[in-house]
Amino acid sequence: MNTYKAYKFRIYPNREQKIMIDKTFGCTRFVFNKFLSERKEKYEKYFPSSQVYNRCEYKNEEVKDLSVRKWICPRCGFEHDRDINASENIMFEGLKIYMKESMI
Ligand SMILES: [Zn+2]
Repeated sequence: MNTYKAYKFRIYPNREQKIMIDKTFGCTRFVFNKFLSERKEKYEKYFPSSQVYNRCEYKNEEVKDLSVRKWICPRCGFEHDRDINASENIMFEGLKIYMKESMI
């Protein structure tokens, strides 16, 4: 189990140090945003979070249309909300990845 802690510091950099800090955080932000956008692109391309019903794994291509907020699964007949289904799928996918990574 991981333990996360937070620390707060106040610093008083001189002009030269401020420039260096700005450059460092700018670079860090650039790298973070670059990899975030790559992951988002890959995730959206390969993981249909709102199309697959997580209990019976039926894939509904019609849900690609964003105006469809609720749909009835033709396989099991259960009506469900698009956003709740997608959030459950994302949670299960995240848990799968977490379990896989913690096994290593
Ligand atoms: Zn179903």
